[in-house]
Amino acid sequence: MPTRLRHQFASDNTAAICPEAWAALAEANQDGAASYGEDRWTARVCDQVREIFETDCETFLVFNGTAANALALAHLCQPFHSVLCHERAHIETDECGAPEFFSGGAKLLRVGGKNWKLDLEDAETVMAQHRDVHSTKVRALSLTQATEGGTVYVPEELDAIADFAAKHSLAVHMDGARFANAVASLGCTPKEITWQRGMNVLSFGGTKNGVAAGELVVFFDRALAREFDYRAKQGAQLASKMRFLAAPWTGLLANEVWLKNARHANEMARLLEARLRAAGLTQLAFPREASALFVHLPNEIADRMQARGWRFLKFIEPDVYRLMCSWSVRKEDIEEFVADFRQARA
Ligand SMILES: *Cc1c(COP(=O)(O)O)cnc(C)c1O
Repeated sequence: MPTRLRHQFASDNTAAICPEAWAALAEANQDGAASYGEDRWTARVCDQVREIFETDCETFLVFNGTAANALALAHLCQPFHSVLCHERAHIETDECGAPEFFSGGAKLLRVGGKNWKLDLEDAETVMAQHRDVHSTKVRALSLTQATEGGTVYVPEELDAIADFAAKHSLAVHMDGARFANAVASLGCTPKEITWQRGMNVLSFGGTKNGVAAGELVVFFDRALAREFDYRAKQGAQLASKMRFLAAPWTGLLANEVWLKNARHANEMARLLEARLRAAGLTQLAFPREASALFVHLPNEIADRMQARGWRFLKFIEPDVYRLMCSWSVRKEDIEEFVADFRQARA
């Protein structure tokens, strides 16, 4: 084993590949398998997703989350369409215009909302500004679960969103880069926060849960998936050695490893909050509902922590920092971080 680097709270993508995904990759590492997704590992992932979501859905494997989101939205939209999303949504703030680019011009319409969740009254206001041919035609709504702010939509909130979408004839896309953390947080089944609540397509994230790369685009409405294979290939997302993206996913989806990883990350965030509060931290910017803590931290303390080698990101000026947990955080890492925090405050 290589020497273990200090754990980092900058993101959950600083974590290693989890052992089950790694073992599944090793098992798949042999000659002679079929290419371009015609292999048994890719077929297995699609079956596992159908079992986990308890429905006959259609699944595609792409390289990363930006591709999953951008291509899913491009598939829902004509160039003259638009997509409602939260103003802090990853598709709006962190994808370099990829949804607009791949859709050939569909516009993202920013909606506000507390705790980084969509406010439907604000969404109504935006809808009212898009009534005729002079504006874009609103075609879809995208929400993130768990949100970029580490909060989680509860089933009743999803019902309200589904009602809103039905009223306005919108398709609903869920950015689930941290979908597993939301399921773990709610203690629900995957279907209870997806197709049973009107979600049409899900970007199901594995990278932040324990694989090296590869995210799933899951269509619950099979008609919407039509020709998505062409969309993915044109978008440079058809892996010729797809089995090596798929195999680690089979390890994640077997025996609820994806849930175990997410539960652990969530539990470590809970512990980190408790230990930091005991050490004098007073304020969170948003409620901790999944694997992230957003803390108000005096900048000089954050600087001292960074000088001690800890990496974490400032998310909101002037003083909100994000501490993100993953499957690989250990209790010792948290104790070490909190011990340094106590010293940095002294
Ligand atoms: C990480 C993340 C993604 C995917 O990012 P990539 O770097 O493109 O894989 C998408 N949505 C959210 C909310 C994320 O946090």
